[in-house]
Amino acid sequence: MEEWYLKKGSLAIKKYEKRTEIEAKQADEKIKHCLTCQRCFMTIILKGKRLGIEHFSNFPTYGKQKEECETCQIRRKLKNLNAK
Ligand SMILES: [Zn+2]
Repeated sequence: MEEWYLKKGSLAIKKYEKRTEIEAKQADEKIKHCLTCQRCFMTIILKGKRLGIEHFSNFPTYGKQKEECETCQIRRKLKNLNAK
């Protein structure tokens, strides 16, 4: 019985490791560079649900897709509203 558990456990770990590997790869592709705040950011999506964005300071920006982050977009919109 114990052996069966161990077998199942290691299989689960392997599965988990593979999944995090894929997630890490996807994460790297999804990291974008915001030119407004000069930071890298990524949208955190968990099980298809958008949780928010995370900023990374001191993250290499080379080769990253350029896109304004949500924080800057909102900030800019607010600024425009206040300017009116
Ligand atoms: Zn930004």
